[in-house]
Amino acid sequence: MGEEPQGYDSGAITARALAAALRDLEQIGIGPEGVNRLAWTAEDAACRRWFESQAGRLGLDFARDPAGNLWACPRTPGPWWGLGSHLDSVRGGGRFDGPLGVVSGFAVAAAGNVPVAVISFADEEGARFNTPTFGSKALAGKLDLDVALRRSDEDGVTVAQAMRETGLDPEQIARAPEWISRLRGFVEVHIDQTTELARAGSPIGIVSSLASRMRIEAELRGAADHAGTTPPAERRDALAAAARLIIAAEEIAEPTDGMTVTCSRIVAEPNAPTTIASRVKLWIDARSRCSGELDSWLVALGAAAELIASRWRVEITLQTASRSAGSEFSAPLRAALARASEELTGRSAPELVCYAGHDAGVLAERVPAAMVLVRNAQGISHSPKEAVELEDAALAARVVDRALAQHLD
Ligand SMILES: [Zn+2]
Repeated sequence: MGEEPQGYDSGAITARALAAALRDLEQIGIGPEGVNRLAWTAEDAACRRWFESQAGRLGLDFARDPAGNLWACPRTPGPWWGLGSHLDSVRGGGRFDGPLGVVSGFAVAAAGNVPVAVISFADEEGARFNTPTFGSKALAGKLDLDVALRRSDEDGVTVAQAMRETGLDPEQIARAPEWISRLRGFVEVHIDQTTELARAGSPIGIVSSLASRMRIEAELRGAADHAGTTPPAERRDALAAAARLIIAAEEIAEPTDGMTVTCSRIVAEPNAPTTIASRVKLWIDARSRCSGELDSWLVALGAAAELIASRWRVEITLQTASRSAGSEFSAPLRAALARASEELTGRSAPELVCYAGHDAGVLAERVPAAMVLVRNAQGISHSPKEAVELEDAALAARVVDRALAQHLD
């Protein structure tokens, strides 16, 4: 054996090793307002250099695929298990959302019990171009390239231009799916973005599935008129109707356990203090454990919209702007993780449904995939206040290591 890689302990996966790896990464893009590592920026490039140096220390081969995902691969023939997450952040994000999965991947690689490829996916957050899970979608062959590459940031820079500036050729992205054959499967360790594990008193949890999601765009058309002189019987107030629609959307969802509805954005016209609103656009985000519940909710919302439309004399259209059926994680991988967790902690780790999107959920459509969440006492994420105990994260990495090395041959 050569010199011990600084930080990681071969054979042992410790909080100290994770802390050492994070310390180097935390020289990049962290200020008083949190972490700023948007995709395809100078900070992103610095993260890439950090990733490459970690790979080098561990004797792994560094490579960047055509979508800009970073790989640190064993020198033994593949396919390997992939471990990782992402290094980009939202604006003013936290230290652990993403990096936790990457450093725990390197820690498992260093332990040497199972050959793993460590991956950092490009632009998971989509904070700059509204292109979330860009890299994993490209790898899974699920990225709409024409749409994604033309998206532009606040300065008018397109994704294609930003990628070119980092030395990638956007024309080559269509070849990214060729890389997925390197993987037997993929496991992502990620900070819990709720207090679910903290409330359960469990350091880690195993994600059974990602929730189904649906985004509805509602349009309400009434008539602009004088706020003072228009009698109630003659009003066609689109904003008053929108208020009822918001309440209906929430109330219909209320009896369904595990369903969340958020009326997240509203635009009213003419948006003038003394004019009845003639037109309102309303965006509604709905998530649930299974897509059938979302379908039932939408049917009921349609019926409620008809009643509101006739009562307030407005026209209401509901359009499904996007939907994702959610993803069920691999049963054999989950069973292996559950067994490893029981062996290491003497108790079973809770299974939970995750309501956010993640790279592992995208890959789950192509290869066996799983996620392990790490307890977050405050449940805060996408904020400088994001926090975990690295002891919990090291346990998550040890569970992954043991599951892959001992329970999945
Ligand atoms: Zn994340």
